[in-house]
Amino acid sequence: MKKFLWLLLIAVILWASIIAGCILLFPRSAEADEYNAKMERLINIRRQALESTSQMKFLAGWEPMVVFGIPSDIHPARTYDFRGRYDPAVRAFTFHPRYYAALNRLTSDDPAAVESFFTREGDLRSVIDHELGHALVHDIALRAGQARWFNSLTIKTMTADERIGLTMLAEGISAYFERLTSADRQPHGYGNLPGSWSDTDWQFNTARVINEGGYWIVFPIIERFGEQGIVYLLSHQLRLPDGRADDAGLKYQRLALIILGGE
Ligand SMILES: [Zn+2]
Repeated sequence: MKKFLWLLLIAVILWASIIAGCILLFPRSAEADEYNAKMERLINIRRQALESTSQMKFLAGWEPMVVFGIPSDIHPARTYDFRGRYDPAVRAFTFHPRYYAALNRLTSDDPAAVESFFTREGDLRSVIDHELGHALVHDIALRAGQARWFNSLTIKTMTADERIGLTMLAEGISAYFERLTSADRQPHGYGNLPGSWSDTDWQFNTARVINEGGYWIVFPIIERFGEQGIVYLLSHQLRLPDGRADDAGLKYQRLALIILGGE
């Protein structure tokens, strides 16, 4: 009986800490609305900055919608790696609740104050620009009649290497917008592209291969051809036969530049 009471006590404590954790991580009501509104204002500011730097536009009437939380499909061991996500189906952004802390440090919407805020909060600026990159590409896809690119049903029918190729292009394009106003825009990713599936980088440095490698492939295509370059990426699959991303990436990039340049 005593053992049962102890177990009950432990269960109650566990339950109470889970609830307390949820309240702390996901504050509701007015406070949560304030964070969402702040984030939506910041997204609009960065959207204008990216539009004027890249000369690419979001569709008219576009309004950011923000939620804070960790999507349920993120593995518990990877929740810290999660920064943000854009869901084109509902046109909404999800951000990790750890960005509340940064948002607390924003005290004014004055343009100069916001600019120095973004300099201090570089991680927040880069996650907003990255997710805006995904959103902008979705709008470009809609404009170009290429919305199928993002269709999860299409993705389900793909082979593993087609799916990895698609992810490399998608993350590479978002990295382009993430770094569009950064001091160092040069891609350093060619060395991160593995030469076969047995290359350990595929196993241990997947994020770097996808992001840096993807950025290296798409950089000159978008830099030279802008929206037209992105439309090319949306309509040309990157295949990775035998996991030879270095070879496939180089050939893909060269062919794109030749076709787009009309050489
Ligand atoms: Zn991304």
